[in-house]
Amino acid sequence: MNFNLSEEQIMIRNAARDFAQTELLPGVIERDEKQQFPAEQIKKMGELGFLGMMVDPKYGGSGLDTVSYVLAMEEISKIDASASVVMSVNNSLVCWGLEHYGTEEQKQKYLVPLAKGEIIGAFCLSEPEAGSDATSQKTTAIDKGDYYLINGTKNWITNGNNATVYLVIAQTDPEKMHKGINALIVEKGMEGFVVGPKENKLGIRGSDTHSLMFTDVKVPKENRIGEDGFGFKFAMKTLAGGRIGIASQALGIASGAYELALKYSKERKAFGKEISKHQAIAFKLADMAVQIEAARHLCIKAAWEKDQKQNYDLSGAMAKLYAADMAMQVTIEAVQIHGGYGFVKEYHVERLMRDAKITQIYEGTSEIQKIVISRSILND
Ligand SMILES: Cc1cc2nc3c(=O)[nH]c(=O)nc-3n(C[C@H](O)[C@H](O)[C@H](O)COP(=O)(O)OP(=O)(O)OC[C@H]3O[C@@H](n4cnc5c(N)ncnc54)[C@H](O)[C@@H]3O)c2cc1C
Repeated sequence: MNFNLSEEQIMIRNAARDFAQTELLPGVIERDEKQQFPAEQIKKMGELGFLGMMVDPKYGGSGLDTVSYVLAMEEISKIDASASVVMSVNNSLVCWGLEHYGTEEQKQKYLVPLAKGEIIGAFCLSEPEAGSDATSQKTTAIDKGDYYLINGTKNWITNGNNATVYLVIAQTDPEKMHKGINALIVEKGMEGFVVGPKENKLGIRGSDTHSLMFTDVKVPKENRIGEDGFGFKFAMKTLAGGRIGIASQALGIASGAYELALKYSKERKAFGKEISKHQAIAFKLADMAVQIEAARHLCIKAAWEKDQKQNYDLSGAMAKLYAADMAMQVTIEAVQIHGGYGFVKEYHVERLMRDAKITQIYEGTSEIQKIVISRSILND
């Protein structure tokens, strides 16, 4: 058992920390207010290799391990969770899915530019009536011989407008239920594919969340990922890894808020002393530090299991459940420690509190994580 990070892992963490401070922190409040996608910053993240972190260098990636990815996600999320969700979707859902299940042609055509960050991708599973219950897909992909014909609507799609490549999950054969679902690669600009308006959100407001409409969109057969009927399994496999990304996003949001609260508590005076010297505040900080450290261990354990090619379904779900709920609690306390200043934008903690909420909802709500965990421990 060795808890030390490697030199390379420390270097990646420091690089992400520097990038977040110099490139993401300036303008983060304004982007949140204006719901502005961090386009320039995402481009630079691509150039630095943060958008294809775990992809094999032969496909344009950085060839790093999942532990490094967790460390980088934490650092980016401390400052800008709208940027880190782009990173998470591109790395853990789109690139990972294509690298593991795509054909060589699909990898050359789509994975290489995605891993280099020249383009970004989106993962399209949710629908107006299919969220947690992802088997209830209403979007259809009818087999027409050389191509599939897609019709339907996807909801809440991250990178909805800024993506170039969309992995779309759709029902081909309803009689086979979830075994009749396919995952198809759709390109922006394909005829009949329309991006809806941007959602006006509580948090991660800089991220680009849209509904997508498909009307008779023709997708060539070679754009199907895996065998016929593999789509649902593909979605579940990618989401299992995605949870590690979102867990580290929650971890970063919490540790960002904690660091701000710690600093503030040593500066702000009340009743003749720093508020950190009041036990009620010191104990809050102690609780926050313990919870963050516990979440960090869960995230790194899940990442390590993934790197060791072990099953990480349970550890990933545990990490996401715990880190997301913890991020909500910690950010609320960070606002409390800031008093009235916590309630205004320039102190950052109110944004982190709003951003924390989404980690309990997307890529499987906290309730769904409990289903995954309880099924696993009960051996169902
Ligand atoms: C900002 C944002 C970005 C997103 N990005 C993406 C994306 O890129 N791609 C994508 O495909 N989706 C995306 N989503 C969708 C997200 O994954 C879904 O919102 C989420 O899975 C929940 O689905 P739902 O909204 O339909 O809620 P529902 O499934 O309707 O759930 C409503 C409530 O019921 C609970 N519930 C449901 N079923 C059960 C059950 N069996 N037992 C106990 N409780 C249950 C849920 O936990 C929740 O509290 C995004 C959502 C948001 C808000």
